Amino acid sequence: MKKYSKIIAVAAAACLMVGALSGCGAKEEAEQAAEAVKEEVKDAKEEAEEKVEEAVDAGKAVIAGDTYVMGCSADFPPFESFDDDGATIVGYDVDMMNEICSRLGIELEIQDMNFDSVVTAVQTGKIDFGVSGMTITEERKENVAFSDPYFEAYQAIVVMPDSELKTYDDLVNGEYKAGVQLGTTGDIMATDVLGERVSQYEKYSDALAALLSGKVDCMVLDLNVAKAFAKANDLVLLDDPFGGEEDIEYYGIAMAKENTELLEAVNKALADMKAEGFFDELDAKYAEE
Ligand code: GLN
Repeated sequence: MKKYSKIIAVAAAACLMVGALSGCGAKEEAEQAAEAVKEEVKDAKEEAEEKVEEAVDAGKAVIAGDTYVMGCSADFPPFESFDDDGATIVGYDVDMMNEICSRLGIELEIQDMNFDSVVTAVQTGKIDFGVSGMTITEERKENVAFSDPYFEAYQAIVVMPDSELKTYDDLVNGEYKAGVQLGTTGDIMATDVLGERVSQYEKYSDALAALLSGKVDCMVLDLNVAKAFAKANDLVLLDDPFGGEEDIEYYGIAMAKENTELLEAVNKALADMKAEGFFDELDAKYAEE
């Protein structure tokens, strides 16, 4: 028995050796290990893909190379308006967004829409950025997030050259009618003070047509845009602002509230651009126009 068991032991050892040399057992083990690693990699990949999908769904990721859509009402020069070709949207906001997107490594597409639709379009994910000389207000902040401010404005009054309407008090105390763009801060403020005497238009071109044809006596709108309209149409900009000093407004870029990663990236780009003098150049470029 002893002899036999010794033989068996030797045979077993030999078998193991042969197995090892031929790679039988080790191969199997290696294959199993490789399979396990493959499985792990697959799981990790799937998990990562799921995370990206979730992030995209929540609008959280800033994905390099992707196209991001900016919505604006392209009737607000010098911030956004159609170029002479009638198709390209140009202006301060466009230059700013091109710079931000290039810093973020993303592509920019611009869509024209009524100003009144911009906040909802951001909220529902139809567009990624609402950039339309849009004032940061508490009411809008209930529906969208805003970047840090990039421009300061206040409401101004524009009249025909022969108008008797010369001051803010004339407007408040008289019977004068005002044209505004629907949903703007000009609309909200003017309606608050003038009530029924305000006519709301979806586009500034319609408000302007109403002023030129005498349907309204003035337009209430943001200062820089009022200047541009006055210059282009031989209108007069009143010295008085609409409202008081406390009514100063700041423009911001509207983004979906869940989109915290995009908001942070945009704010970082804005801060860098401010520090590097980008906005000084932009202000100078559009002040000349
Ligand atoms: N700044 C104003 C607002 O946010 C007007 C903007 C606009 O008419 N495009 O309401």
